[in-house]
Amino acid sequence: MKTSERIINEAAQGMRSLDEAVDWFSSLDEGEQNSVLREIVLYLIQVHVTAEDGREGLARSGVKATMTPAVLIVREPILEQIGKIAGLPPNEYLKAFRVLLSTFAVADTRRRDTECQGACSHAWHNLS
Ligand SMILES: [Zn+2]
Repeated sequence: MKTSERIINEAAQGMRSLDEAVDWFSSLDEGEQNSVLREIVLYLIQVHVTAEDGREGLARSGVKATMTPAVLIVREPILEQIGKIAGLPPNEYLKAFRVLLSTFAVADTRRRDTECQGACSHAWHNLS
């Protein structure tokens, strides 16, 4: 499992704080950061993210509701909006990361609780 996949999933499962994940993200160069944003978008698609997840994720993200990634995440259709968030310019990357990762945490937690129930074979749900 690559580092980004591990860190994203540890944060989603509460094994790592959002601020710790942000510290790691900040240490990457711009190209790597862009790849990570696109990676989270893929995970959000896989987990069938909803607009409600976006609203709840934003509330946990620490990003002000007036910031561009925040404005986008609460709009529908959500799959189109998360693609736009991953395509924002580099000065938005940090806020985009917070919003997307927080939203993934909400969506993935719902999946773990309802579908996986501690008995799945997803490698990323069996980290420890
Ligand atoms: Zn699972």
